Amino acid sequence: MTDCIFCKIAAGEIPSNKVYEDDRVIAFEDLNPQMPVHTLVIPKNHYSHIADGIPDDEMGYLFNAAVKVAEIKGLSESGFRLTVNTGADAQQTVHHIHIHVCGGAPMNSGSPKR
Ligand code: AMP
Ligand code: ZN
Repeated sequence: MTDCIFCKIAAGEIPSNKVYEDDRVIAFEDLNPQMPVHTLVIPKNHYSHIADGIPDDEMGYLFNAAVKVAEIKGLSESGFRLTVNTGADAQQTVHHIHIHVCGGAPMNSGSPKR
């Protein structure tokens, strides 16, 4: 996707504060963090959202990568929240699937990331 900001981050065309990368996924710090830890994990392949026909192995790899990122960020014991905003009502703003990995302080039921 030529016009997708997260595809450009995955391709290294837009800078990001990288937390983890392998051949299939990349994780980077959210530009506008809502929590002490707020990292995004994306597949390098473009899917607009979680219901965009993501193959099972890609989905599994992505979520295991999110758990790995939580470990890297030191959240394994304290806990963390994974969020995947999907569509208008969820206020998805970037249309390349991404998992928000949030933690580092107690969260209430409504946030983050919404
Ligand atoms: P969502 O509302 O679930 O689509 O979340 C999109 C997230 O992407 C927001 O938390 C933004 O702060 C974040 N974001 C947008 N552009 C960038 C960027 N260039 N680098 C890092 N995070 C970004
Ligand atoms: Zn994309």
